[in-house]
Amino acid sequence: MGTIQWYPGHMNKAKNQLEDNLDLIDVIIEVLDARLPLSSRNPMISNLVKKKPHIIILNKSDLADPLQTKRWTRYFQEQGNFVLSLDAQHNTNMSTLFKIIKLAGKEKIDKLVAKGAAHPTIRVAIAGIPNCGKSTIINRMIGRNAAIVGDKPGVTKGQSWLKTSNSDIQILDTPGILWPKFSDQVVGYKLAACGAIKDNIFHADDVAMFLIKFLREHYLNNLSNFARFDKEAIEQFNDIDLMLAMTQKYGMRDDYDRFSVYMLQRFRKAKLGRVTLDIK
Ligand code: GDP
Repeated sequence: MGTIQWYPGHMNKAKNQLEDNLDLIDVIIEVLDARLPLSSRNPMISNLVKKKPHIIILNKSDLADPLQTKRWTRYFQEQGNFVLSLDAQHNTNMSTLFKIIKLAGKEKIDKLVAKGAAHPTIRVAIAGIPNCGKSTIINRMIGRNAAIVGDKPGVTKGQSWLKTSNSDIQILDTPGILWPKFSDQVVGYKLAACGAIKDNIFHADDVAMFLIKFLREHYLNNLSNFARFDKEAIEQFNDIDLMLAMTQKYGMRDDYDRFSVYMLQRFRKAKLGRVTLDIK
């Protein structure tokens, strides 16, 4: 694949905006795709949030392998993070998230109360790679309470704080967009399989081949169900022959390109089962 030359300029800008606003933010929420707890992280975030309380949301947990989500949750907790696994698509109740934000922001609140503040507010920003669910989470947090709090001095022009349905918590209206960083192809394929990067970066058949290999190794039952071959039969095929056999089985003759696109679509909707691509 060679060097990846596609880090778009506006991603740098988003990063800088987050940096510019850092002084005004009390708690940073980093949203990860629960199917990709490592691959959907940008190493830059650790530098950004070093001095801030930090919450990790493993979002899209409805699509991820529950056992893996449990292990990743423990792993991130052991590193000293607040962690929440979430399905922001179907879960409208953000009370657990609000509780965690209050825990994370407690020190700041205590300080403000000691200074005599009557009703201190915790200010939160959300960051994560594209498509991990940032906007969905922001919308869930503001609920019907979509009023803008108003520009604050120092906040990048055009950015404002939104009231959430919890009166103690406000959220920066624009999420910090982080770009996934990958130096190896496997991470790229994982991101592509989950729809985290644009489809035109990789060929669908390469991503589908990666998935076949991965599922064979880690989720053989899922692969067998989807392929409509029993596990013994699957073991007889090499990856390419299996791809061709599945293409035929699905009535697409030798059009493995079409089958690859179909397989990716099904995978993204968890129709191959709940699969996590970063194994803990
Ligand atoms: P953003 O680019 O990070 O702001 O991501 P969005 O909030 O726009 O979400 C991207 C896509 O993922 C949308 O189609 C959402 O409906 C979907 N989505 C967000 N959260 C979840 C989730 O927890 N589970 C599932 N299945 N889909 C989600």
